[in-house]
Amino acid sequence: MADVKCLVCGVVFDDSLGKCPVCGVGLENTEPVQAAPKTEAAVSSNKRFLILGGGIAAVSAAEAIRAQDSGCSITILSGEGRLPFKRTLLTKCIAEGLPEDAEIYPADWYKEKKITVETDKLAMELDPVAHRVRCADGSIYYYDKLIYALGAYPFVPEMDGVGLEQVQVIRLADDVVKIRELLAKGGRALVVGDGVLGLEAAWSIRKYGCPVTVLGSGKGVMGKQLDAGGSEVLEAIMAKKGLDLKKNARSEAVLYEGDRVTGIRLKDGEEVPGDLVILSTGVRPNTFLAVQAGLEVNKSIVVNDKMETSAPDIYACGDCAEWRGINYSLWSEATEQGRVAGTNAAGGDAAYGGVEGAVIYHGMDIGLFSAGDKGGKEGVEYDVVEKQKDLDAGVYEKYYFRDGRFCGVILIGDTSAMGRLTKQLAEGAPKEEVL
Ligand SMILES: Cc1cc2nc3c(=O)[nH]c(=O)nc-3n(C[C@H](O)[C@H](O)[C@H](O)COP(=O)(O)OP(=O)(O)OC[C@H]3O[C@@H](n4cnc5c(N)ncnc54)[C@H](O)[C@@H]3O)c2cc1C
Repeated sequence: MADVKCLVCGVVFDDSLGKCPVCGVGLENTEPVQAAPKTEAAVSSNKRFLILGGGIAAVSAAEAIRAQDSGCSITILSGEGRLPFKRTLLTKCIAEGLPEDAEIYPADWYKEKKITVETDKLAMELDPVAHRVRCADGSIYYYDKLIYALGAYPFVPEMDGVGLEQVQVIRLADDVVKIRELLAKGGRALVVGDGVLGLEAAWSIRKYGCPVTVLGSGKGVMGKQLDAGGSEVLEAIMAKKGLDLKKNARSEAVLYEGDRVTGIRLKDGEEVPGDLVILSTGVRPNTFLAVQAGLEVNKSIVVNDKMETSAPDIYACGDCAEWRGINYSLWSEATEQGRVAGTNAAGGDAAYGGVEGAVIYHGMDIGLFSAGDKGGKEGVEYDVVEKQKDLDAGVYEKYYFRDGRFCGVILIGDTSAMGRLTKQLAEGAPKEEVL
């Protein structure tokens, strides 16, 4: 057993797991991690650190605070009703249910680190002047430093019928339990959204044994990650794997009889029959407390390189934060931003540097990897090399270069090179080294 680092999403994990617990790539895409020399915490204070949110950004911040300060109190307030868990598993585990070891860390870890996790505390009010948070049950928490890590919630389009029981989103562990209950009744599932999470959910439902139709609003699928050629290959794979797809399908209303869902009506009037609707239509950052407290908020909470917000003693990180105008909504970035926020809040010195976004899709028995800039910048000339495209074999390999330097890639089928390519993307490797 040894710790390894995933070269694709940056997560460090124990190699006995056999694959990355976050993005699912195999051990061939990892590198050994030198065990960090045990260093003493720099200080032992009696400060109060309060962390809002029970996701990976919160846990990562708590871990970083404890590494800096051995004496301070650390309290995590989460409204989720359970210990922080690997949210990335949710769309991947509908067929078999959430595994028992889904927690990021077991309860003993928090005890050992002297981190208090309150799992039923919904924060309702933040007073940055009084340094105080009020929860839904009336309890009050005071802080010296606050980490705002409230994540995001699913976007639900405004249309008739979305409030029905058979219309679900996927963000919480309970969502998967509910979806499995509904699937057990049989019928066809309609997945609204052809992004990575929509297609992961669709495949998971197919594996469960129910027929699925994916309703995508674009001309192809995974419009953010794939170009037209990549989409064509993925569509062929979906057809082979028994996933129905409707493109240019803009949903207008959920159809129902009484309280039973019967399908979806599209904007062009077509009615697509189905018994369960899964909405995978994006997320919105959880900023309401920040807005109410007067913090600077664009689409998400504005933070600088140290993850400081516009208010003294308040840091933000993860899916609720916006760094240089970017909200990544990626596990690896929530982890890193949490580390930076926690380190700085506890008096250390860390800066966040950002990444070129990479996405891995695992489903339909294929690998798919899309990373970097794939020709998306206006006025920039790209040198594009399509090495392979085979609809029958389900293979696609395309590379993008800017000024002779590697800047983007799409792989479908064999993704075994993605560890190497991720490194070369970060370095901006020359073309002859990449191909
Ligand atoms: C189904 C699914 C699959 C995904 N798959 C991938 C993947 O394969 N790879 C990848 O990189 N990323 C993936 N992501 C994105 C990744 O999970 C997120 O980027 C990451 O979880 C963000 O962590 P966070 O801590 O910022 O926020 P969250 O995980 O959203 O945590 C926020 C926490 O705050 C709590 N909270 C909210 N409001 C309150 C309140 N008022 N009071 C108290 N607590 C509150 C929430 O209950 C939650 O516990 C996936 C996301 C989902 C939903």
